[in-house]
Amino acid sequence: MTVTDAPVPTGRNEDRARRPAPVPAFAARAAAVGGSPVRDILAVTARPEVINFAGGLPAPGLFDAEGVAAAFHAVLTEVPERALQYSTTEGEPALRAAVAARTAVRGLPTDPDDILITTGSQQALSLLATALIEPGDTVLVENPCYLAALQAFAFAGARVVPVPCDERGIDPAALDELITTHRPKLLYTVPTFQNPTGRTLPAERRAGIAAAAGRHGLWIVEDDPYGELRFEGERAPWIATYPGAEDRTVLLGSFSKVMAPGLRLGWLRGPAALLRACTVAKQAADLHTPTVNQLAAARYLADRDLDAHVARVAGIYRERRDTMLAGLTEALPEGSGWIRPEGGMFVWARLPEGYDTTELLPGVVAHHVAYVPGAPFYAGEPDRATLRMCFVTQSPDEIAEGLRRLGAALAERRTLRGARAS
Ligand code: PMP
Repeated sequence: MTVTDAPVPTGRNEDRARRPAPVPAFAARAAAVGGSPVRDILAVTARPEVINFAGGLPAPGLFDAEGVAAAFHAVLTEVPERALQYSTTEGEPALRAAVAARTAVRGLPTDPDDILITTGSQQALSLLATALIEPGDTVLVENPCYLAALQAFAFAGARVVPVPCDERGIDPAALDELITTHRPKLLYTVPTFQNPTGRTLPAERRAGIAAAAGRHGLWIVEDDPYGELRFEGERAPWIATYPGAEDRTVLLGSFSKVMAPGLRLGWLRGPAALLRACTVAKQAADLHTPTVNQLAAARYLADRDLDAHVARVAGIYRERRDTMLAGLTEALPEGSGWIRPEGGMFVWARLPEGYDTTELLPGVVAHHVAYVPGAPFYAGEPDRATLRMCFVTQSPDEIAEGLRRLGAALAERRTLRGARAS
């Protein structure tokens, strides 16, 4: 618009001209992600008087702060010009090599070049969504599924279809049928100590999933942040090792649960072409994961014994799991059930028919204890009687007290219901 054809400002027009024009709307994908009533309720659980089983936080007292501090001190004094400088998008060679070696020792031959270091494994999920998913593409997920993976796929415009699961995870026969019907681009799974259910997919089902991916042609995203936290039972091989899956499985790993989540260090192991696509996406997202964190983690792995640290942490987590399992019988109403996890951080429970854990949450939080309702973890029709509790953050005494409070809150609800019925 030139000065000469601008409207002459008179009266109301002048007012309007002074008022700022509204800003353009958000992108549809951002506008669709609204507030969450559960998030609002859980915000109050940050208060110190609340025993919060809702978070997914590693026990803060068990971080090897001294070891991590020594590693940072070493790299910042010995190679400051390197540690504080920009780095390559793929990641620091020393850390890629260390991750590759740890992966190979656990049964999956891996070169440093097969690894992309990511800013937590959460970033690997969004990079994969960027690299693989067109709006409208179908993604198959476990039912229920890790919440922030659902978010990453939703942001990419995916059509998310839940795969029927039982207490051992994905049902391979149901998966086969869904693949035929929906022609999905990828399957996302957390096969070991899943978030939110704690369940673990047995070896024969892993083989079945790998074979289905080979037969039908789809990507498998195998997300394994919890696998090292095993308290008992035999470790099952990664899906990536089974025939059919080798060239089409992306394995995600993370130091969050075994070292510290604040480091924001994860990785993606995948076929070369996909790794390249994810690297380009990562460059656009953050150029690279912080150099100093990567070098410090590599130094930690070289100087310390991470496996011994994890074994110690797992021993303590096991005791906490046992405390929680022991208290559930008393705390939850008769007719409730739960999955006994062999490791990881979560217990998944189901209250009897008719209970709605979202509805119950405000009353439970009033007793200064919190869980996460199960409903948001479902991509399809939710089972409203389910809930997730993290058993690793608190001491056994706090866990026992939290369960006493939960029991009291649920008993109050039963009394109220009984009074209403009579
Ligand atoms: N995947 C799963 C299944 C998770 O539970 C989490 C964290 N809770 C992540 C990925 C992300 O972990 P991080 O980004 O800290 O590596």
